[in-house]
Amino acid sequence: MNKAEIKERDQQYIEGTYARYDLCIESGKGAICKGYDGREYIDFTSGIGVNCMGFCDAGWVAAVTKQLGRIQHTSNLFYTEPCGELAELLVKGTGMKKVFFSNSGAEANEAAIKTARKYSNEKYGNERNEIITLINSFHGRTMATITATGQAKYHAHFNPFMQGFSYAVANDIQDLNSKLTEKTCAIMLEIVQGEGGVLPLDEQYIKAVEKICKVKDILLIVDEIQTGIGRTGKLFAYEHFDISPDLVSFAKGIGGGLPIGGILIGDKCVGVLKAGNHGTTYGGNPVVCAGGVYIMQQMTPDFLAEVAKKGTYIKRKIEEMPNVLSVKGLGMMLGIEIEGQEAQAAVALALEKGLLLLTAKEKIRLLPPLTIVYDEIDAGLTILEDVLTGEIA
Ligand SMILES: *Cc1c(COP(=O)(O)O)cnc(C)c1O
Repeated sequence: MNKAEIKERDQQYIEGTYARYDLCIESGKGAICKGYDGREYIDFTSGIGVNCMGFCDAGWVAAVTKQLGRIQHTSNLFYTEPCGELAELLVKGTGMKKVFFSNSGAEANEAAIKTARKYSNEKYGNERNEIITLINSFHGRTMATITATGQAKYHAHFNPFMQGFSYAVANDIQDLNSKLTEKTCAIMLEIVQGEGGVLPLDEQYIKAVEKICKVKDILLIVDEIQTGIGRTGKLFAYEHFDISPDLVSFAKGIGGGLPIGGILIGDKCVGVLKAGNHGTTYGGNPVVCAGGVYIMQQMTPDFLAEVAKKGTYIKRKIEEMPNVLSVKGLGMMLGIEIEGQEAQAAVALALEKGLLLLTAKEKIRLLPPLTIVYDEIDAGLTILEDVLTGEIA
């Protein structure tokens, strides 16, 4: 099929929930992918933070295909090896105690919400069930997680929404305090708000929230779905701040491109979810987990230091570009505030010039594959500078 045929069929048969860019991707290797137009594109998106090792990393492909030829699925009624191996790597890499695997980020947050409510219901009664999230957050697309998402645009069309959520202004501890009630059972936050515009929380704020949670036995849920698995230069972004959350949700990067999510469960919540309380058919799938094991094995201190270094390099270069008002984020998760044109228009122009970018609200967002090499970074940044300057390449 050619590009036009692929597009046309997609538009005819796929429900239009996504505004797709004008590109049909055929294949990829590392940070470069090839379109059906025969052109090559530099990838600064990782499929929204998913392909952390780039496209079709050889080791990851080998790990996945090896498991695929052994056994693809068994149901959670039986033991398989990769699932426990991945959980062990996650637990030993963080100091958390247990793992529950789901298939997506939204489901990971569902599991965190259910765990938090059960913990508090059992200890303090059913009335203690409220969760405070932050304004401008993003936590997923299921009914519970759109309710948890602190952005008005998600709170339309699908009434009724869930009870028991309230929203606090990020980085404002007074506002958070004013939202606390005797019913509060958890506070849920992203260390860097991703979809909300790549907005990092302040260290002081993060530490103050942790303290409130500890003192009041309120659970701290950190949504690391976008920030986790090396993205910010640490395995998880909360490690930058020396805090210990009770529940950490992860997804995106850990699958390297295959669907997976889950939660890390800390001391307090171990054993809250018991047999029959929660589950999912595909969670902990051996093929996906085998890929996850490979990804986790790459997260060495040297690798993570390199991510931080590349992130700093990219940030510095962009700060020197014309029409850039600010560059915010952590590691290789960056948001660029620009003037002179809309971010959406800049991203479309970059695509024409051979660079894949994302937006987040009114910003350009970068989530390059963690394995991208400096030549590719420089080539991508040259295109970005052209776009921001308004020069024709
Ligand atoms: C992407 C994302 C989600 C939702 O993950 P899905 O896999 O799309 O369900 C939740 N929280 C954050 C912070 C995300 O970036």
